[in-house]
Amino acid sequence: MENNTKEKVSMVARKISKGGNNVVFTGAGISTESGIPDFRSKGGIWDKYRPVYFDEFMSSKEARIKYWKMKEELYPDLIKAKPNPAHMAVAELYGMGLIEAIITQNIDGLHQDSGIPNEQVIELHGNTRRARCTGCGKIIALDEVHRRIEQGDLAPECECGGYLKSDTISFGQAMPVDEVEKATDFSRNADVFMVIGSTLLVHPAAAMPDYAAKNSAFLVIVNLSETPYDDVTNVLIRGKAGQVLPDITKEVRRLREQR
Ligand code: NAD
Repeated sequence: MENNTKEKVSMVARKISKGGNNVVFTGAGISTESGIPDFRSKGGIWDKYRPVYFDEFMSSKEARIKYWKMKEELYPDLIKAKPNPAHMAVAELYGMGLIEAIITQNIDGLHQDSGIPNEQVIELHGNTRRARCTGCGKIIALDEVHRRIEQGDLAPECECGGYLKSDTISFGQAMPVDEVEKATDFSRNADVFMVIGSTLLVHPAAAMPDYAAKNSAFLVIVNLSETPYDDVTNVLIRGKAGQVLPDITKEVRRLREQR
């Protein structure tokens, strides 16, 4: 670790170890080291596919087939993905009682797999491990949809006649009201607000650091590329989440042992 990074890690660890309303906000970048590509980096998902917008999904069978084809291509990576050292480090901080809320843009469920209870993870964009009927709202396991697609049902429908869609938020689809409210409240009351692996470009998620900053939260960004908040953040660490987060947690552990 460079000296500069070491100092930053130590500053972040000191702030977090004080406790309080510490909030972690994660994006696709925390999961790239688990083998799930992000969207905007070179070679990311947007380099390969054009997203299917919600209104297209609802109005065209062809679009629904395309939607599920893309999901099916991502499915093998998704089911074999495991939490990486960054997820585990966040889970350890949570276990020490130092993290009040985890807000995520991710749809991969890896925070839950790292041991954080489901109800403590605020998923702004849903979860791709399950499907939901756009008609009656029924939840269906992704494995079940996967089986149907493998058998040739390329745009599966619910028994009510609604369309089965991954339980995630597509472009043009309304955000989940409760989750956005909860995330906004936690962000507004944050003491430390730590962003991990997000370009902070997608709204309303990207407004959360702003809410936190207005509460004079201590803003931390761990990200490989630029974000619109780089100039206003208290600590910016340009590094891999899977390396930086374990270093932060290790330092927090050391500080606690010293007490
Ligand atoms: P993004 O793709 O816009 O940006 C990811 C950011 O993470 C980039 O700035 C990149 O430089 C950085 N990054 C990549 N690997 C990193 C690493 N190892 N350590 C630190 N930083 C790293 O992602 P986003 O801002 O989260 O928004 C994209 C949207 O796509 C989200 O809304 C999310 O719903 C969805 N998405 C989710 C997943 C997932 O669930 N794993 C994957 C792809 C996209």
